[in-house]
Amino acid sequence: MTASKAAREKRAAAQAGPYARVRIDLDDRQRLVHKITCTSCTARGDRPWSAYRPGGDNGYLAAMDRWILHLVQRHPDADAPCLAYRAEAEVRLTQRREQR
Ligand SMILES: [Zn+2]
Repeated sequence: MTASKAAREKRAAAQAGPYARVRIDLDDRQRLVHKITCTSCTARGDRPWSAYRPGGDNGYLAAMDRWILHLVQRHPDADAPCLAYRAEAEVRLTQRREQR
């Protein structure tokens, strides 16, 4: 589990690009939790902007979709590999919104 967690973290960090700090933790039920923090932005209360999503591959995708949207809105100059999936991310974000 530890090795795959580290590998996932490395893969996600490579995809997310230079503005991101990626952490993958286990919650109290031993599920993966993906957290992507922006090294440049602060949200409310001076805390760094971050996307936090539980789940394995679903959590990875959900966190990365949020991150892609953040890059597009706040860092249009960013050069991150994940931006190649921008169109898919926007479709998924719209679908999730409609499911609520
Ligand atoms: Zn940012």
